[in-house]
Amino acid sequence: MRYSFLSLLKNGLTGQAGWKPAWRDAAPKPAYDVIIVGGGGHGLATAFYLASEHGIRNIAVIEKGHIGSGNAGRNTTIIRSNYLLPGNEPFYEWSMKLWEGLEQALNYNAMVSQRGILNLYHSDAQRDAYARRGNAMRLAGADSELLDREGVRAMYPFLDFDNARFPIQGGLAQRRGGTARHDAVVWGYARAADQLGVDIVQNCEVTGFISEGDAIVGVETSRGAIRAKKVGLAVAGSSSRVAKQAGLRLPMESHVLQAFVSEGLKPVVDGVITFGAGHFYISQSDKGGLVFGGDIDGYNSYAQRGNLPVVEDVAESGMALMPRIGRLRLLRMWGGIMDMSMDGSPIIDRTPRPGLYLNSGWCYGGFKATPASGWCFAHLLATDAPHATGTAFKLDRFRTGHLIDEKGVGAQPNLH
Ligand SMILES: Cc1cc2nc3c(=O)[nH]c(=O)nc-3n(C[C@H](O)[C@H](O)[C@H](O)COP(=O)(O)OP(=O)(O)OC[C@H]3O[C@@H](n4cnc5c(N)ncnc54)[C@H](O)[C@@H]3O)c2cc1C
Repeated sequence: MRYSFLSLLKNGLTGQAGWKPAWRDAAPKPAYDVIIVGGGGHGLATAFYLASEHGIRNIAVIEKGHIGSGNAGRNTTIIRSNYLLPGNEPFYEWSMKLWEGLEQALNYNAMVSQRGILNLYHSDAQRDAYARRGNAMRLAGADSELLDREGVRAMYPFLDFDNARFPIQGGLAQRRGGTARHDAVVWGYARAADQLGVDIVQNCEVTGFISEGDAIVGVETSRGAIRAKKVGLAVAGSSSRVAKQAGLRLPMESHVLQAFVSEGLKPVVDGVITFGAGHFYISQSDKGGLVFGGDIDGYNSYAQRGNLPVVEDVAESGMALMPRIGRLRLLRMWGGIMDMSMDGSPIIDRTPRPGLYLNSGWCYGGFKATPASGWCFAHLLATDAPHATGTAFKLDRFRTGHLIDEKGVGAQPNLH
């Protein structure tokens, strides 16, 4: 059913009895044209664009838990396209454009809120780097604005301008950046894909692959074998484990990233702010809680929970930026498993196994990439060629040396 003012009115007057489930609870069929492994944002977006843009509708999304139970439902919901490097920026700007039309495309309120993002700088060198980044963004068609200290003060007078250990000198603003409601993005893609005939199969874990020679021709699952002409992996933090079942060793590490939400407040932070002298980013949810996060935990893990030193580190950064945060009570915290690649940038590519395709390496930044990731992965699965904005996301770049090292820290996933 389509959501509209009229359907809202009708159901409001008839006891809300007329709503249909947003998607079917599909049972797996013996075979599909395409199987997407992983029912996070990327897997569901891929299925949707395969069906809507390429007319391929005999598709299953296979999810081991429930859709959105991975990072898609655990992130701090920031969307932006403020990257520097040519391999990244056009892709993330394409994602931003897709965000801007997403709710119409899906007929679903994903609460896309272009409330703006501001990256603070605290030194002359950082200002120069942000000026360069802002220019790169503009060259790719994105918006950017370099603010001085007074420009930042006008936006956020409550930041610590006077006694800070790292005085704020200014910031790089992207006014089209902001947030989107992460669960709603998952549900919106799921519903729209289901309407186009995609089977969303939950509680079905991929446990192995069916091979014919080198080629992958299906998956083994906890609910039986399912064959497919093509299999796409979009399992984020589980990438290395699942790919290993196909005999692949990925240039990837898995790390925990934690997020935090405070008790509800009246509106105070109306955009997204990132601290430039540590790793800390903060916004306010529509329910009033301050939502914030920082660095990944520095060790490899597949457990979706974090540790206390990082909690302390994140809280310290928050205090350095806006000391009054110290009076807040923390309501909840949680962790997700990040697929940290060796250069901090993603992979959307074929694999050495014919029939097996890979979407991975999203590190901290995969939520904002969800629409473009789905778009580009669908393009690759449908045409066997990379989409124009994703040509740099090659799996073999770690062998050839064509790295996309946005942070310039080398092959150290824990630093990206
Ligand atoms: C705390 C936190 C904060 C973040 N903040 C931001 C942010 O503000 N902005 C931003 O852009 N990004 C952010 N991210 C990153 C972003 O959430 C991820 O990069 C992105 O969600 C990954 O893609 P996905 O949604 O498809 O992953 P997921 O939702 O993790 O989807 C992968 C799915 O694969 C399933 N799966 C795994 N193994 C199997 C199997 N064997 N068989 C079947 N299914 C399987 C999992 O259950 C999971 O549902 C954050 C992440 C975390 C954890």
